[in-house]
Amino acid sequence: DTHQLDGEVALVTGASSGIGRAVATTLAADGAAVAVAARREERLEDLVDEIETDGGTALAVPTDVTDTDAVHEMIATTRAELGGLDILINNAGVMLLAPVIRAEHDDLQQMLDVNLKGLMAATREALPGLLDQNSGHIVNISSVAGQTANETSGGYSATKFGVNAFSESLRKEIADSDVRVTVVSPGAVETELGDHIPDEQTKERMADLTDDLIPLHPDDIANGIAYALTQPPRVSVNELVIRPTNQR
Ligand code: NDP
Repeated sequence: DTHQLDGEVALVTGASSGIGRAVATTLAADGAAVAVAARREERLEDLVDEIETDGGTALAVPTDVTDTDAVHEMIATTRAELGGLDILINNAGVMLLAPVIRAEHDDLQQMLDVNLKGLMAATREALPGLLDQNSGHIVNISSVAGQTANETSGGYSATKFGVNAFSESLRKEIADSDVRVTVVSPGAVETELGDHIPDEQTKERMADLTDDLIPLHPDDIANGIAYALTQPPRVSVNELVIRPTNQR
């Protein structure tokens, strides 16, 4: 039985729920050894158990991506324990929506620290090894909020526009190498992301907006990522935008 990602080592941040969890499971089923990172250690251990029960290889690396030293350790531990690193999925993110007038400074800071600085730090740590081996893939999770900014998404959209800019710049910087960069921009996906919206009015408005559409399943995004990862080396899927069919 051969799988398309046999022999590859992947690291998925934000793997304790939602899209990250689905990506980890999908890549493991496709043969990759998968390191799973997030803050909630118990969730990661459960995920590792599930992957191993299904015959895969997984490693929990509890990490807060806002801590630069922890990010360094996350990459080092993955390399040491799983024998390398080929695929980095920068997926950890928070969406603490509020109108600017009511936005808490701490929430704006947290979105920047997780969604943007955490992604930059992990990329910076992983890159030298990928360039040395002249192969590998960095997948950065953006959002449709990284393409259009709407009311109450100012801080969140700023981080996702930032993810796009950082990714596109990196892609050009390393275009002479065989390391690939992909940006994935999901529309509405059924996850825990909206549970943490601090502003009650915004939370209700978001719920109303998504009321009459069937959201994507996290697996739908994982399948898109698997597609990008399994293309022949000459093919770089630069960007994937994946929305529910009825989302505007
Ligand atoms: P979830 O809330 O289900 O997952 C978010 C993940 O990020 C969790 O595993 C969480 O783990 C992790 N995370 C949060 N803060 C940190 C931190 N400081 N350090 C490490 N990990 C952290 O939401 P989704 O699965 O939906 O979100 C995944 C990505 O997809 C995000 O980047 C989000 O912006 C993006 N996205 C989601 C969309 C949707 O509709 N759901 C649409 C467009 C983009 P823990 O709390 O254990 O640390």
